[in-house]
Amino acid sequence: MADLPNRLERPLSVAAAIAALSGKTNKVVPVAGATWIMRAGSRGEKIDGTFVDLSAIPDLSDIDVAKDKVSIGAMATQDVIAKGLAGHADMAALMMATGYTANPAIRRAATIGGNICTADFAASDIVPALLALDAEVEIVSPDGTSLMSMAEFLSTRRSLGRAVLVTRIVIPRRLQASTHSRITLRKAGDYPVANLSAAITVAEDRTIRTAAVAVGGVEPVAKRWTGFENALIGRNLESGEFREIAGNYTDEFEGRDDTGAPGWYRVRLLPALADRAFRFLTKSTA
Ligand SMILES: Cc1cc2nc3c(=O)[nH]c(=O)nc-3n(C[C@H](O)[C@H](O)[C@H](O)COP(=O)(O)OP(=O)(O)OC[C@H]3O[C@@H](n4cnc5c(N)ncnc54)[C@H](O)[C@@H]3O)c2cc1C
Repeated sequence: MADLPNRLERPLSVAAAIAALSGKTNKVVPVAGATWIMRAGSRGEKIDGTFVDLSAIPDLSDIDVAKDKVSIGAMATQDVIAKGLAGHADMAALMMATGYTANPAIRRAATIGGNICTADFAASDIVPALLALDAEVEIVSPDGTSLMSMAEFLSTRRSLGRAVLVTRIVIPRRLQASTHSRITLRKAGDYPVANLSAAITVAEDRTIRTAAVAVGGVEPVAKRWTGFENALIGRNLESGEFREIAGNYTDEFEGRDDTGAPGWYRVRLLPALADRAFRFLTKSTA
């Protein structure tokens, strides 16, 4: 069957969007902020097919900051998220990953759904923040709605099928502090060479009770740094030994080479990133 001509559809509901994404013979692409899609040409990719613009679907851009959880619609932009989470120490990792990255124009357009659905984007700041915050991802497909952990989403996102939409991110709230740190080669608006998000709970005597640390940019897909996490439990936050401890666990990573930086360099940055993150947490929990 011949390809259909390029088209733009603008559904008014998630159900209509799923219907638009199903049953076509040529390529069908959901479009959120379009900040990744618009650069297809510069990545040597062809940009064609039917584009399903998600921007007219009500509720997909909402943020709800409740006592027990934060719920963020997939179409919420980086800017809206950063503003919505400001002042909530437990959510600082995501506030920083959305508010201190890219540039103001991109932050007003790029969405959380578009960010985490871009499987080829190894340097996302949002993905490690969501991993460290134990976020869950709501998915809608022709079979219904389901919720999966961020780790499960990352391992299956390439195979989810085309009539699948991320509709919401749900993050549990805890009495914790979190942060996000990143290192770029040249300037703040660049993609990070490596980044790290951390979330901890601390006992009254300043020992670390729980720790979640996630690293992005180093490998093709962000992941939790489990050896380092385990080594942190029971340590006193004031000890200041985080660079040394982190250095013992860098062999959990196999750095990716690309034109931005060699893999070994990305791995070597991790102790400095850990040190930066834990200095921040030491202050923010004081
Ligand atoms: C100059 C510049 C600098 C940047 N710097 C950073 C940075 O440092 N850190 C960072 O994290 N990000 C950064 N970004 C943003 C990042 O690179 C992506 O462009 C952005 O996150 C994509 O979001 P979007 O809403 O524009 O997605 P789109 O471009 O609309 O879509 C991206 C992909 O996701 C799919 N998709 C979108 N929404 C959904 C959905 N709800 N369900 C299923 N599939 C969906 C699309 O089909 C497409 O495949 C930067 C962008 C630019 C242009």
